Amino acid sequence: MFFRGARRQAAGVKSAMSLLPTPKPEILPVLQIVTEGDAAVPSQGALAAEPPLEPTDELLAELSRASERLESATPQEILRYAVERFAPRFTMATAFGPEGMTLIHMLAEIAPSTPIFNLDTGYQFPETLELRERVKRRYGIEVELKRAETTVEEYETLHGGPVYKTDPNRCCFDRKLQVLKEAARGMHAWASAIRRDQSEDRRRADIVGWDQKFQLVKISPLANWTKKDVWNLINKHDIPYNPLHDKGYPSIGCWPCTRAVGLGEDERAGRWSGFAKTECGLHTQS
Ligand code: SF4
Repeated sequence: MFFRGARRQAAGVKSAMSLLPTPKPEILPVLQIVTEGDAAVPSQGALAAEPPLEPTDELLAELSRASERLESATPQEILRYAVERFAPRFTMATAFGPEGMTLIHMLAEIAPSTPIFNLDTGYQFPETLELRERVKRRYGIEVELKRAETTVEEYETLHGGPVYKTDPNRCCFDRKLQVLKEAARGMHAWASAIRRDQSEDRRRADIVGWDQKFQLVKISPLANWTKKDVWNLINKHDIPYNPLHDKGYPSIGCWPCTRAVGLGEDERAGRWSGFAKTECGLHTQS
């Protein structure tokens, strides 16, 4: 049993620990440990993979070298690197935005068997879910819908109403972040479609780096692309996109937290309008 003698062991460890210098908290990786039988099993991302991938100094140095080398590479070259280095434990998350659609288009040519998933909060626009069907028809790729344990109805009943109205951070945490953690368990790396010029938070994104929040390698092939680059590719190859973009919605998330933007407004101004919130938390480290 995991707990057998745990108190005695803890006392021994405590006295031994008192002889050691105090560790610096910032260099300790945040691990969630769950018990399975007698073994302690890391519950997150690449640490739960078989074989596990751990953020050793060696790995972090490798990622840093790769990121530097790929700074001037095309998104296709970055995706090829990701597939060669991490498949079959390489995955992609998409909200079916224009950036995600370009990556899906590239992956369909480079590595169509890459598992792609969408965080289906239960609050997505019908147009977004319809786009999933169009991806299936165009590329033969079935984007997997990953959902929270509770339905929207159960979640709202549990909290006495829509949480997005009172605490959108909590709602995003429960219906996106927790779901991504679960979806990424056992993977080594994930691709995101963020661009550095979208926001201050995203400006700091590496092309390749260790994602401390999800305990995975994070790859951002479009980090150096602009909105114009994305739409040029969409128009050139007639890549399917969400029709709401033609109705004044440059950035689309869940329907309760997305509005159309006016002329001259920032492309993300329509997200969580009325709240200080600008990100769902998937791409921030805090
Ligand atoms: Fe909830 Fe809005 Fe976040 Fe969607 S975007 S998970 S509805 S708070």
